[in-house]
Amino acid sequence: MKKLQNYVTGQWIEGNGEGVPMHDAVTGEIVALSDTEGLDFAEILQYGRTKGGEVLRKMTFQERGNMLKSLALYLTKRKAAFYELSYRTGATKVDSWIDIEGGFGNLFANASLRKLFPNQSYHVEGEPIDLSRGGRFMAHHILVPKRGVAIHINSFNFPVWGMLEKCAVNWMAGMPAVVKPATNTSFLTEAVVREIIASGILPEGALQLIAGSARTILDGVGSQDVVTFTGSATTGRLLKSHQRIIDESVPFTMEADSLNASVLGEDAVPGTPEFDLFIKEVRTEMTVKAGQKCTAIRRIIVPQNLVEDVQIALGKALDKVTIGDPRLKEVRMGALVSKEQVAEVRERVQELSKTAKIVYGDLNHVKTIGADASKGAFISPILLREDDPFKNLAVHETEAFGPVSTIMPYKSLDEAITLAQLGKGSLVSSITTNNDAIAKDYVINAASHHGRILVINRESAKESTGHGSPLPSLVHGGPGRAGGGEEMGGMRGVKHYMQRTAIQGSPSTLTEITGIYQPNSKYKDAPQHPFKYHWEDIQPGMSLKTHKRTFTDTDIINFANVTWDHFYAHTDITSLEGSIFEKRTAHGYFIISAAAGLFVYPNKGPVSANYGLEDCRFLRPLYHNDTVYARLTCKQKVDRDVASAEHPSGIVKWFVEVFDAEDELVAVATILTMVQKKQETFVE
Ligand code: NDP
Repeated sequence: MKKLQNYVTGQWIEGNGEGVPMHDAVTGEIVALSDTEGLDFAEILQYGRTKGGEVLRKMTFQERGNMLKSLALYLTKRKAAFYELSYRTGATKVDSWIDIEGGFGNLFANASLRKLFPNQSYHVEGEPIDLSRGGRFMAHHILVPKRGVAIHINSFNFPVWGMLEKCAVNWMAGMPAVVKPATNTSFLTEAVVREIIASGILPEGALQLIAGSARTILDGVGSQDVVTFTGSATTGRLLKSHQRIIDESVPFTMEADSLNASVLGEDAVPGTPEFDLFIKEVRTEMTVKAGQKCTAIRRIIVPQNLVEDVQIALGKALDKVTIGDPRLKEVRMGALVSKEQVAEVRERVQELSKTAKIVYGDLNHVKTIGADASKGAFISPILLREDDPFKNLAVHETEAFGPVSTIMPYKSLDEAITLAQLGKGSLVSSITTNNDAIAKDYVINAASHHGRILVINRESAKESTGHGSPLPSLVHGGPGRAGGGEEMGGMRGVKHYMQRTAIQGSPSTLTEITGIYQPNSKYKDAPQHPFKYHWEDIQPGMSLKTHKRTFTDTDIINFANVTWDHFYAHTDITSLEGSIFEKRTAHGYFIISAAAGLFVYPNKGPVSANYGLEDCRFLRPLYHNDTVYARLTCKQKVDRDVASAEHPSGIVKWFVEVFDAEDELVAVATILTMVQKKQETFVE
């Protein structure tokens, strides 16, 4: 029987034990043996920290992002083989799409984040903080990659997505990963890792795979490492309280049981689009991945007078769910991951049915097509009804990790919110209503207990990504029972793998450290006009002081006529009494336009376009006869990929300060220009 290999310390290695069989969820056949015996976990972690970490930490966000993009493209071309293996985990084509292409989607989405980070290996966060009266002492926050390894202990239900949603983020941050998938579906994770390693796209050591059990992996964990865990609350709590995690203060992100609730608004009665949308959503969430989704709807909270309608409509909808061989097109629900999992789900349903009634499905019988129900890990969808959910609390505490959900009634929205909260924290909740006042009430009062809330109505339904889909740009995680962790969320997620440090010093020092010109920093006067330099030769702090200009009455009137901005302060000096203006006042836009007139270098050169303005402020009114001059200083450079073959360029942000004749600052703005590069640096 084929043994799965582990990819550790730069090689594919077989364990030296007997191996644990992994079964095909549909036929019960053995797919392969998992064997991790003899692996030296401490050595594996150290290899990641040094070999992979050293290279990743030095790469810029742009380089890391492009690496993720190349990897996503590479894997997408090879996806067919992954689908074949995925069927053996019991997943249908749709389930597999969520796992496989959802995982690649995470690589793409995280790759795009490179545009939001600076063109360097570390991040500068937030605004500068002035700590002095004289402007010579200030602070900023930076985030650098942690010097450890990210250890991901994953669950069986998403062998590909589970790995990539986490790795995409730690690679973006500049950290290597050791992935430990759940044993019973690790054959699919292994297939993907094999392709990743073969691609040569990642630096060696950036990814290691332990394809099976790793009970002592945390014994070697250190203070610069990050551990994430997805699985059962029992294991999660055990690992979170590991002595090394405590002793070394290792960040531990846990995502465990979650009894996600979906609420039907009182307005969404039968006959409304919202009622139908609700039924569809619940059915989908019960049956996609055969309900083995941490975000599945486990509690269906409906107005008391609609319980019967919901029960009947859901029953009819579930009747249409064909169960069987996940390869077949007509099959809507495949198998659970294993027979053990079927037994586990049955046990949980029995606990629930001590007070709740099974109103749909049969625990001991399931009709399948194209597969032998006795050989595979099949189970029928089970719908329960709990009529007294304030008294019988099992429904808020017992997670049956399969196609199982319970309907319960509420009398008022406050009751619905309280019921949702009885789950003691979940990954996601949803409400279906076409009444935005109800939506607002629910969201604001329920949000404390949920990591994500989806509002479904006729306007959003067509484009909604659904209750069950965590998205790379949104946070995924939840308080309390859901584990208290937070993953993904765009830039937020990347920061979980970085150390935030407050840096104090002079503005000039902080300009050097951050790569961003800080207010009050020394100017670096350039020998030539800054617009004459190419991208490569421009540095933050490079500055130009312009000549002066005096605003005349006619200038202001002309500007009003050209722009049609006839606000009284510019055009009617008889109305100024009682206003904040003393004389005819220059338009703020005129001040900025005049500044551009002073600092722009008119000849054709490397600056190819001005494409916007940020953080523009007018600090005091300027009147006719006032004289101004400007300072143009390079604030920051933002690299970008070049799509066309002509004129590769980057973005330069210029800090513009406008001063009056007494050197008082009167206006500031940041202008954005596209500046040509000398070299053609294309990215495919
Ligand atoms: P487990 O908690 O048993 O396993 C999760 C991961 O932890 C697996 O990779 C497992 O490895 C690993 N693991 C278990 N014990 C240890 C240990 N002592 N040291 C290191 N790693 C360990 O969960 P399962 O995936 O088996 O699922 C069991 C139940 O958990 C489900 O029935 C469901 O109720 C719940 N669950 C909830 C999820 C949620 O997010 N809501 C997600 C997944 C599961 P190995 O497989 O090698 O044992």
